[in-house]
Amino acid sequence: MDTILYGIEHKIRDGVRLTKEEGLALFNSNDLAWLGQLADIARKKISGEYVYYNVNRHINLTNICTARCKFCAFGCDVDSAQAYTMTKEKALALAKQSAQDPDLRELHIVSGLHPEWPFEFYLDVIRSLKEELPHIHLKAFTSVEISYFAKISGKSTEQVLRDLIAAGIDSMPGGGAEILSDRVREQLCPKKATAGEWLSIARQAHKLGLRTNASMLYGHIETFEERIDHLIALRELQDETGGFQTFICFPFHPANTELENKITRTSVWDDLKTMAISRVMLDNFKNIKAYWIMLTLPIAQLALGFGANDIDGTVSEEKIVHAAGAKSSRSLSKDMLINSIRQAGRIPVERDSKYNIIKVL
Ligand code: SF4
Repeated sequence: MDTILYGIEHKIRDGVRLTKEEGLALFNSNDLAWLGQLADIARKKISGEYVYYNVNRHINLTNICTARCKFCAFGCDVDSAQAYTMTKEKALALAKQSAQDPDLRELHIVSGLHPEWPFEFYLDVIRSLKEELPHIHLKAFTSVEISYFAKISGKSTEQVLRDLIAAGIDSMPGGGAEILSDRVREQLCPKKATAGEWLSIARQAHKLGLRTNASMLYGHIETFEERIDHLIALRELQDETGGFQTFICFPFHPANTELENKITRTSVWDDLKTMAISRVMLDNFKNIKAYWIMLTLPIAQLALGFGANDIDGTVSEEKIVHAAGAKSSRSLSKDMLINSIRQAGRIPVERDSKYNIIKVL
């Protein structure tokens, strides 16, 4: 093993933060078993033996989107055959139907950037959901959506956040971060929030007391250096605010996107490497999520040995990744999640959206 890698192992064992150069050296290493070992050391120190899951439902109000990012198979134009919109009543009906399960704790609400809906519509949906289902946590709207709401309402992003908090959102999902590099965003998603805007909205949300999450979409045109810069930008913001709850890394799914014939799906090798490196770089993130929808359940289970301590939720019913041909199910039962965690030799823990423990199994 060369000196830099040897030094990295010592730093992780001693709980010392890794530099950008060390993160890059890890991406240049292909000793996957060793990377898994390093991630496991960090995971044990930071998160222990528990693996979290929750019972949640996704609601995507529309897939019509003005941004039309090149990596997205979900967003479409208003006249597309796939286009759909949901009324407030429909969203309420879906939420109430899911809430018949007494274990449901969270609604995860993200949508396309609709060209005509006013900001008031989103406030109205949130107010109604909160009124009808006050016990359900509303994890709603990415920083990209907040930036868009500011544009269509003429309000500042801070005021948009204040209005949404007053209406009833409890936290924000981590989507829309993609790769926090202006080079990548200009090529793939020039119409949505820039890297600086994404970070600034997360910072504002944290300052207003809203917990948020962070993600990374990798495996398209980004370099390893951009992946590391992305992780370091999140780590620096977490140092400043402590407001991120979990980090999720998503592999890019090319099917049905503009990049379909140009880029192939990442290898499992890359997925596990990226998971492990994220765990060791993000030393101030308590939780690293292996999102089974993106990874498939077998890879998510394997990722538990590469730094992950959260496997996400029952989900019903996922639309965004399945638009890109994901082969995973659209939802899973609690028993399937629990068994997958147990088979990996870890302790399943049902959590709420703020990582309070509901049940240790
Ligand atoms: S990733 Fe989000 S913003 Fe981009 S096209 Fe898809 S739905 Fe729209």
